[in-house]
This record gives sequence, structure tokens and C-alpha cells, in this order.
Amino acid sequence: MSDKRGRWSKDDLNIIWKDYINIKIYKYFNDLNKLDWDLSQEAPCPYCEELMLKAQYQGFQPNKEFSWDVDHINENSKDNFISNLQPMHPKCNKEKAIKYG
Ligand SMILES: [Zn+2]
Repeated sequence: MSDKRGRWSKDDLNIIWKDYINIKIYKYFNDLNKLDWDLSQEAPCPYCEELMLKAQYQGFQPNKEFSWDVDHINENSKDNFISNLQPMHPKCNKEKAIKYG
């Protein structure tokens, strides 16, 4: 998967979202059943645990309340293996970069 300077294709975004809700989300949240959400469209942010909406990807729907962007888990923006990518609110992504970057 390639990062065209932060521009992700819809296919890339689908893969990143699906990987998150199928695999990564279970590492962050023990009690997902509590959330009565349709994970194919709604998921908790890995940083703040608040709602993100899949349809509101930041690149296509900028600055909406529940927008998300692609976070590089290890803060290496050249590491575009799927294992290093996850959805995250843009503001959380910035905060995380300052904290751990
Ligand atoms: Zn967040």
C-alpha cells in the first residue's frame, strides 16, 4: 500500500477500515458488545474512543465532527504496511504525533 503524500485511494481506505474493525479494534477494546454500533460504518477512535464515521474520511469530508484520517501507528509515515495503519480523528492524530512522534 503506498502513501501518495497522504492521499489514499478509496480501496486503501476500505482496507484500512476493515483491518481496524476486524483485527486491531479487539486489541484496544475488550467490551465491544457494549457499543451498539454498526462497525462497518461506525467505530471508536483508537486514541479518544469517540465515534468515527467511515463515510466521513477527512480527505473527502474535511472537518466534520466524526471525520477520520490514516494514522501511522509507529509514527513512521513511510511505513505503509497495513499492520502500521489505522483510522483516527485528525485532531487525535496530531496530538498523538506530538506526544509520541
Ligand atoms: Zn479520537
